[in-house]
Amino acid sequence: MKTALRMSLLLLVSLVAACQPRPTGTAITNVTTIDAVNGVRQNQNVIFDGDEITTVTSSGTEPAVERTIDGTGKFLIPGLWDFHVHLTFDDNFTESMPALFLSYGVTSVRDTGGLMHKILPVVERMRSKDSVAPRVFFSGPLLDGEFVVYDGESLPEIGVRNATPDEARATITDLKAQGVDFIKIYEMVSPAVFDAMVETANELDLPIDSHVPLSMRARLAGPSVDSIEHLRNIEMDCTSSAAELHETRLELLKNPDGLPGAELRASLHSLQRLSSIGAYDEELCDQTLATLRSTVQVPTLRLNAFSLAPPSHREDWEEALSRISPNVREEWRASAIRLAENPVQEFIDLGEWSIFLTRRMNSKGIPIGAGTDTPILLSVPGYSLHAELEYLVRAGLSPLQALESATVRPAEYFSLQDEMGTIDAGKKADLVLLHANPLEDIANTKKISGVVAKGNYYDAESLLGLVQELYQDP
Ligand SMILES: [Zn+2]
Repeated sequence: MKTALRMSLLLLVSLVAACQPRPTGTAITNVTTIDAVNGVRQNQNVIFDGDEITTVTSSGTEPAVERTIDGTGKFLIPGLWDFHVHLTFDDNFTESMPALFLSYGVTSVRDTGGLMHKILPVVERMRSKDSVAPRVFFSGPLLDGEFVVYDGESLPEIGVRNATPDEARATITDLKAQGVDFIKIYEMVSPAVFDAMVETANELDLPIDSHVPLSMRARLAGPSVDSIEHLRNIEMDCTSSAAELHETRLELLKNPDGLPGAELRASLHSLQRLSSIGAYDEELCDQTLATLRSTVQVPTLRLNAFSLAPPSHREDWEEALSRISPNVREEWRASAIRLAENPVQEFIDLGEWSIFLTRRMNSKGIPIGAGTDTPILLSVPGYSLHAELEYLVRAGLSPLQALESATVRPAEYFSLQDEMGTIDAGKKADLVLLHANPLEDIANTKKISGVVAKGNYYDAESLLGLVQELYQDP
């Protein structure tokens, strides 16, 4: 009897214990949080559970969680975006890019151009459950006009032809059905095709990314789209002769010599771009900039101004090279040295102009987005986003504005500001824990102690492990 009683008591105790909920979630404790909306908050406990930040409070009581990470002396920022990437541009990078991005704290990317049959499987893999990859948003192909720049001849095939407004409508309707998150309008479209693209994308609720079409002036095309890349062709609308230059382009775009798209575009660029920069007219340019107040500018300074701070001059370049595929490592090392040793005046002028214009745009409140065009022109995925942040600070953004360009701006672009971009309860669990304060020196965004991506925590060692695994034989 006594034994039976003891047994039932024991059973009761263990039942009660089993009913106590086991604590879940992870807390980063006593950390300084920094984001572009809340600013700096010291001594915070940030708790995330699954893919959601559940609590942000002043530290004090020990949080009841499954795991605690001591954030004392560290700085927590929202996960970073690279707002301009090409996952399928170079086969040497497609497989490795997701891990490379995460290892550098890039937890979301916007892919701005790739053919659907190539990009769709990549997106599917990156979005699959348990995949170790950043969040991905993609446009599908570059939507070009009658002539296609990226047609697979002299440049890789990532563009598609839209000779008429009807073709443009059909293309975009089809892309939407295949799941794209936004569209990208390219440089050779006619004004009529451009208008049809804008109208269709608006109907289908797709954000619009664009280069300024050569057939249009930036002040006309800019306000109709949500983002513009590389500051491209804006210089042609920043000179007193902008109207005449536009007339000339319209004539040449009739393409009497039947040039391939890439050649036609190159001829127009060399005819007008640098000379426009030389003939900058502040009043005219300010009129153009006034039309761009709600169009995110993605200046890709690390591309445009490459010559002003070539990667081989950076002390961490070798370390970055060590993370890319052995297939291209030597080639990239040699190219970087060659480019640094042979600066081209034209590219220096373009770089200085890009920094100047970005500074002016930022001072006028035009929203700026941080994108790199990786892996184009020696852009190591993830690594180059930090270079871009440094360039943006060089162009007059405060370090906090630079962080905004890689967090809040991209979130707003996709109307996800309630879910991403800041460190608040209810937001997605994408975070970067830093050893040093990025507001003191933006280069401190590279001093990564750990990364939270889709609610999974990776310390610096496991991040490096993810990259090292990439090139090991199975
Ligand atoms: Zn690009």
